[in-house]
Amino acid sequence: MATFYDFGLDHQIIRAISDMGFEEATPIQSQTIPVALEGKDLIGQAQTGTGKTAAFGIPLIEKADLKDEAIQSVVLTPTRELAVQIAEELNKIGQNKGVRSLPIYGGQDIGRQIRALKQRPQIIVATPGRFMDHMRRKTIRLQSISIVVLDEADEMLNMGFVEDIETILKEVPETRQTLLFSATMPKRIQSLAQKFLKDPASIAVKAKEMTVENIDQQYLEVQEKQKFDVLCRMLDIQAPELAIIFGRTKRRVDELSEALLKRGYIAEGIHGDLNQAKRDSVIRKFKESTIEVLVATDVAARGIDVSGVTHVYNFDIPQDPESYVHRIGRTGRAGKTGMAIMFVTPREMDHLKSIEKMTKRNITRRAVPTFAEAIEGQQRLTIDKLLEIIEEKDYQAYKNSAEQLLEEVDSVTLVSAALKMLTKEPNTTPVKITGEAPLRAKKAGFGGKKGSGGGGKYRGKDGGRDRDRNRSRNKKGGEGRPPKNNAERSYKKRNKNK
Ligand code: ADP
Ligand code: MG
Repeated sequence: MATFYDFGLDHQIIRAISDMGFEEATPIQSQTIPVALEGKDLIGQAQTGTGKTAAFGIPLIEKADLKDEAIQSVVLTPTRELAVQIAEELNKIGQNKGVRSLPIYGGQDIGRQIRALKQRPQIIVATPGRFMDHMRRKTIRLQSISIVVLDEADEMLNMGFVEDIETILKEVPETRQTLLFSATMPKRIQSLAQKFLKDPASIAVKAKEMTVENIDQQYLEVQEKQKFDVLCRMLDIQAPELAIIFGRTKRRVDELSEALLKRGYIAEGIHGDLNQAKRDSVIRKFKESTIEVLVATDVAARGIDVSGVTHVYNFDIPQDPESYVHRIGRTGRAGKTGMAIMFVTPREMDHLKSIEKMTKRNITRRAVPTFAEAIEGQQRLTIDKLLEIIEEKDYQAYKNSAEQLLEEVDSVTLVSAALKMLTKEPNTTPVKITGEAPLRAKKAGFGGKKGSGGGGKYRGKDGGRDRDRNRSRNKKGGEGRPPKNNAERSYKKRNKNK
């Protein structure tokens, strides 16, 4: 594996990268950075969490010319969280060299953005819709742009940004370099690349190598109505340090986080309808572990980069195998092991099969836990905590009381009572969770066989995925475009009122 010295980078950049704690380049980085530095177009495919930001960020910053006051490169990315996060990372990489990156996204005051643009950042990281706004207002000029990066290209297409992207690419001078990064490579991305990239190098780091190696994958077959109780039991038994629960829709996320709170779990939800401040605060709390359970939709979770997630619960089976890999890739990072548990209703079993086929992995069936097991799990947790205190000898101040108590009651009774008091008994407060129709394999109209799971075929589009997106550009629609084909539309109809 390459170190960052091998690329012949500016020493200020190397120092910044090393301050960020990066020791060696990830596979996608070692393969793409030299190609990008050469000035070639490229298509880079690698899973979430493999360091794609630095893979394009390092060349952008290396190539940035501080003497040139114009905008030199633009990164397009699907969501405002990603725009903010990427700009942050680029600012870190560019810190010593003095290269500045500015995030530009819908929902933020445009006047403020225009003022920030006057500070002459070299790099703009933008959501496509808002970038177009600036193009039209001529507050961003494209003549000077020499590198365009399409980040999370698949997700931008899913969110209906294809026309915006095409419009933007048509206006940037043709002499530019174009770098396209995507976790998956459906046909639509390939044709976009064919249209706008010049003889691109294709670099793919295979999903199998990096995703699921250290993730223990399990599923439970469970009726829709029982899912929530089973989820609570699983949380009680596994007592995750930091967990993400994926729900299919925004309503699902709201209901789940509320219901979890009612039952005494420290949970919060995140999806595209929450305002920016709220989303930021939820992510921050999760990073700080002030909340232990984050409930999220696929798109909202894309922008979240948190290490230390121990468990991923797929409360709803994901739309397609790629999303599955994305979701579970939130855990098992940085060499740690993670656990991914998926709830599958009986009618969704063929979906499970297609996920297994595509990821070339067996997902282990696990029995639905009983109430008794949940109690046991919680007791074990209490006992662990007690033993920890004993180990740390952190109980001196309580010794007198203990001795006095032991004169009155026997030790077994006393410890039992203490355990009862300290144990969070499984909570069965009634909650309201609206049922979701089972996810059905899409049939004709998609050119894909039912449950075939083969590459792009199966990937339908943003239809059934949660449709949260960057609402911002205009009052009625946000930045996403309505879907085009019939299958998408009919899917949406089926899932209306979520
Ligand atoms: P992706 O865009 O592929 O989903 P990111 O660029 O968001 O991945 O990177 C995921 C995490 O890995 C981030 O926290 C990033 O700072 C970290 N990271 C990236 N490159 C390296 C590296 N070479 N060494 C260590 N950590 C890295
Ligand atoms: Mg990324």
